[in-house]
Amino acid sequence: MQKIGVLTSGGDAPGMNACIRAVVRSAVQRGLDVVGVRRGYSGLLSEEFVKLNRRAVANIIQRGGTFLESSRCEEIKTSEGRKKGVQILQREGIEGLVVIGGDGTFRGAAAIAEESQIKLIGIPATIDNDVYGTDYAIGFDTAINTALEAIDRIRDTADAFDRIFFVEVMGRLSGFIALEVGIAGGAEEIIIPERETDLEELCRTLKQSFKRGKRSSIIVVAEGNEVGHTMQIAQYVEYRLKASCRVCILGHLQRGGAPTARDRVLASKLGIAAIEGILNGKEGHVVGEKRGEVVYIPFHDVLENKKELDTDLLESTKVLAM
Ligand code: ADP
Repeated sequence: MQKIGVLTSGGDAPGMNACIRAVVRSAVQRGLDVVGVRRGYSGLLSEEFVKLNRRAVANIIQRGGTFLESSRCEEIKTSEGRKKGVQILQREGIEGLVVIGGDGTFRGAAAIAEESQIKLIGIPATIDNDVYGTDYAIGFDTAINTALEAIDRIRDTADAFDRIFFVEVMGRLSGFIALEVGIAGGAEEIIIPERETDLEELCRTLKQSFKRGKRSSIIVVAEGNEVGHTMQIAQYVEYRLKASCRVCILGHLQRGGAPTARDRVLASKLGIAAIEGILNGKEGHVVGEKRGEVVYIPFHDVLENKKELDTDLLESTKVLAM
């Protein structure tokens, strides 16, 4: 193999830059030419290539977002689109492609791998942390720490006014962010898509905790929960308890910012492992981390399995919120 490409796709995550840097530097070290594909699969189809050497990725390890930019590309979901992409890669002499993103990105990569000789390898980078087979995806640690900082601040004001705060965090399909942030932020309750929430029971719990002397509460709500919009949940609780409720939606705040040390280290480790993998027959895999060790998970395993939430951790909120 002479030349590889690298792209970032789907939702951006802090640490993507650190990962591109590691991919580029380890590839160059192994004697490969590296091409950066701008704007994910969209940039591949419109041939937005930039040659990357060691210096091109200097001074980016600390930056959030992705300097290659990202996109959501519908065309790559069609076989004609992928055919076009493969032809472009072949014309450019790009034999391997490192894709940094989440499940959607890997779905595209798996399809390209199946339909061509291009060697694809995936690196999980998504603040949602919902990629099967890896304990952590790049960006998750930064996102939860950002949300946690916000919750700590909200707690100060919640306490000053005896209020119940509903803090909405990201997670359309999963409660990974909500769970970790809820535990670390000392939340009274965590509302997530994976578990049914009974609002009446929530009201009873809150009432009891106020009886025990609690003056304020924080409830962490994942945006994709089953109960409804965070604002509606808050209104319901306000009506039932005649208590002062407030809502704070953290939104895109959680995506930005400098990556934490943990995310930079993970990104660096997985970037190097991706190059080792693509050179040693691990194409068609996602490179992840399990119990601190690098693992290679076949695309189909990643795509066919759902990552499970730590239910013990979820149960522990009942004890901790007392
Ligand atoms: P993430 O990679 O973070 O899960 P998305 O779900 O938005 O983000 O997916 C990113 C991109 O991956 C999509 O915009 C599309 O270009 C590509 N993609 C997603 N699903 C498929 C699919 N089924 N087939 C081919 N490409 C896909």
